[in-house]
Amino acid sequence: MTAVYIGLGSNLSTPEQQLNSALDALANLANSALVKCSSFYRSQPMGPQDQPDYVNAVALIETSLSPLELLQATQKIELEQGRERKDHRWGPRTLDLDILLFGQQLINSEQLTVPHYGMKEREFVLYPLFELTADLVLPCGENLSKLIESCPLNGLIRLV
Ligand code: ATP
Ligand code: CA
Ligand code: CA
Repeated sequence: MTAVYIGLGSNLSTPEQQLNSALDALANLANSALVKCSSFYRSQPMGPQDQPDYVNAVALIETSLSPLELLQATQKIELEQGRERKDHRWGPRTLDLDILLFGQQLINSEQLTVPHYGMKEREFVLYPLFELTADLVLPCGENLSKLIESCPLNGLIRLV
């Protein structure tokens, strides 16, 4: 089994419910177990600002799926929850599941880049991740606590 961190995000169709449904789906994933999930956080949208705030969280699962099998599974969950693929980047969506870390693996294929290319700069990833595993060290050797120090909150709010 490999420890995998997944970033969840939603800003459409009652985002908290979307995240709860996604967590149910992750809990029911084949050959996997949902270990824990962070609190939910409210965050400012990236890119286009004419869209609702996001609700984000990070989940830790253990899985014996391969990275690509897991990507397929998470994309299926996105589609089941009404994710529409749009041409423009970072538009509003019912559900986004990003594979942040897959154990200590480095993956650079056409479909999958792990660690996720944006995770080191994104407050809505780093802070929930820190809540889950404060002493996490990334495959590049960087400490999560160090990354947090140079990552402004940018309006991130932890929801109760
Ligand atoms: P961003 O990637 O900047 O967070 P996004 O989540 O909106 O933006 P998507 O449209 O959800 O981007 O994903 C585009 C493609 O990214 C997916 O089809 C997938 O193949 C690829 N991808 C590469 N690395 C990953 C990863 N670590 N997790 C999820 N998808 C990934
Ligand atoms: Ca994303
Ligand atoms: Ca994504």
